[in-house]
Amino acid sequence: MAGRHFLQIPGPTNVPDRVLRAMDYPTMDHRGPAFGALGSKALEGLRSVFATKGRVVIYPASGTGAWEAALVNTLSPGDHVLMYETGHFASLWKTLAERLDLKPEFIESDWRFGVDANVVEDRLRADTDKAIKAVCVVHNETSTGCASRIEDVRAAIDAAGHDALLMVDTISSLASIDYRHDDWGVDVTVAGSQKGLMLPPGLSFNAVSEKALTASKTAGLKRSYWSWDEMAGPNETGYFPYTPATNLLYGLVEAIDMLHEEGLENVFARHQRHGEAARRAVQAWGLEVFCNNPAHYSGSLTAVLMPEGHSADAFRKTTLEHFDMSLGNGLSKIADKVFRIGHLGDFNDLMLSATLSGVEMGLELSGVPYQRGGVLAALDYLSARDQVSVAAE
Ligand SMILES: *Cc1c(COP(=O)(O)O)cnc(C)c1O
Repeated sequence: MAGRHFLQIPGPTNVPDRVLRAMDYPTMDHRGPAFGALGSKALEGLRSVFATKGRVVIYPASGTGAWEAALVNTLSPGDHVLMYETGHFASLWKTLAERLDLKPEFIESDWRFGVDANVVEDRLRADTDKAIKAVCVVHNETSTGCASRIEDVRAAIDAAGHDALLMVDTISSLASIDYRHDDWGVDVTVAGSQKGLMLPPGLSFNAVSEKALTASKTAGLKRSYWSWDEMAGPNETGYFPYTPATNLLYGLVEAIDMLHEEGLENVFARHQRHGEAARRAVQAWGLEVFCNNPAHYSGSLTAVLMPEGHSADAFRKTTLEHFDMSLGNGLSKIADKVFRIGHLGDFNDLMLSATLSGVEMGLELSGVPYQRGGVLAALDYLSARDQVSVAAE
């Protein structure tokens, strides 16, 4: 296939050339004198992305590792944790918690909505003996395209007068959807490198509040590789207790520079704008956006419901074979029923336009009933908005 592959899954995302070049260095001595500056820069830069003044921990691991780290550092065997079934990823985190001998109380829910903070508040109010030690929610549920309002979850915990820790998975929202670890009183934020941060897979992160650090002093779950304590000493001078993913750290520092050059507020606005354009296309095609609550629409991906009797996977196979474009699949209970358009990371108007063109041509070739004009609706939105901002100057 000539030209670039279109990697339009909601992570891993496209890695910008600048980041690729930043990693193209000989591997360095991770205990040598030059390494500390790189490690410190990476740790310091990440704080700005999480919007925290507190500690950040970097693991050479996928996001799943940082999920485990969040739990094993703060909790004890048999602890109750309140989790919310927003979709596939929330369900995986719950399974992970069960395997660690925690007792997840799972709020079962319609995958077409994000977290209803009132339900969280009611559950916490009913927990009069304070058995629940943590509330764990996924910020942006990558399987459904619903983004929950974390500030509302914080408010629910406060309104219930509960002291549970708040843990949030931002693996597909950090650096693409507005997020504030400190302002929203989050105790552990979990993130990964390969989505909004525009890096290859291989790094994951915990941002940690003082309250979570205190909890870690008495938490009874066994931990070694994931131990925040082990990291603390070496991290002070930019070093790690074991071999860090050195070349990914070069990339991380470059990606954070790029985010600040654009400005995080602008990065968030760009993602919201692309989400809106994608949804306008879906609507014009006469298809349904999977997320059913406009307050929960995601800026980083759009999941699209296939019409009854049509296979989302067959459609995705067509877009891959004919247009060399990868779209996200439906996961677990919505397998083959939805496809997902990733519009996060290193992404611009023309990449979105081309992606939507591939979807529209794929619908035509697959014999899916749809109306033409989705791409046009997106272009109208993107160009009208530009004219408005140009006119305002
Ligand atoms: C991608 C993703 C994960 C899984 O991360 P891995 O890096 O594959 O371990 C978990 N949660 C969310 C919300 C995700 O988008």
